[in-house]
Amino acid sequence: MAFRSARPLLILLAMLSLAGCGIAASDRSAAHPADVGRPSQSQTASPLGQQCLAELGRTNARFTSLPDRDYGGGCSVLNSVQLDRVGSDTGQFAVTNLGPLACPAANALAGWARFAVDRAARQILGSPIARIETMGSYSCRNIAGSTRRSAHARAEAVDIGGFVLGNGRRISVKAGWTGASDEREFLRVVHRSACKRFGTVLGPDYNAAHQDHLHLEAGDGSFCR
Ligand SMILES: [Zn+2]
Repeated sequence: MAFRSARPLLILLAMLSLAGCGIAASDRSAAHPADVGRPSQSQTASPLGQQCLAELGRTNARFTSLPDRDYGGGCSVLNSVQLDRVGSDTGQFAVTNLGPLACPAANALAGWARFAVDRAARQILGSPIARIETMGSYSCRNIAGSTRRSAHARAEAVDIGGFVLGNGRRISVKAGWTGASDEREFLRVVHRSACKRFGTVLGPDYNAAHQDHLHLEAGDGSFCR
């Protein structure tokens, strides 16, 4: 008899906890007005995914959350966003040529762009960042010269090709890495800073495949070359 009366109570408790989750989730999505793209309501991001989107919203980034896609063969786009602009100390600036990027990588990118890239540009080059030029994010491909899938195949990596300043000056990774002394310094500072926010960072000193970009990959590793 005790067993019978306990079941409705358990169901009620389960319903209450689910309702609690729903309220918390909608509170969080309402808490980032910068997310003008409005995450699609059909997508049911995991609690961890929701938390990442909320954190990204609080960075004053402009982005749209994307539906999950599994393309098979180790290629997928999960909990990812289309990021257009990132927050800076004074407003926002653009990040161009991005495809889907997994939310944790987008968060790392937003933090790096604001606290490392923009500030280093002001201090070393005397002008804020107007835009960061990427060479893409999601791509269903292997690591060059291997049979292993690249982090790009999971939208967990972004390649940075160059930076455009507010005064119009453009610093490319390819030319700047061995270019004028202030460009060399700027690129090395932002490379080092990226190593604190991303699990894997590969630049021109790593190999010829990275001579024209910085490969920034989210994760727990600490591979910095
Ligand atoms: Zn890459």
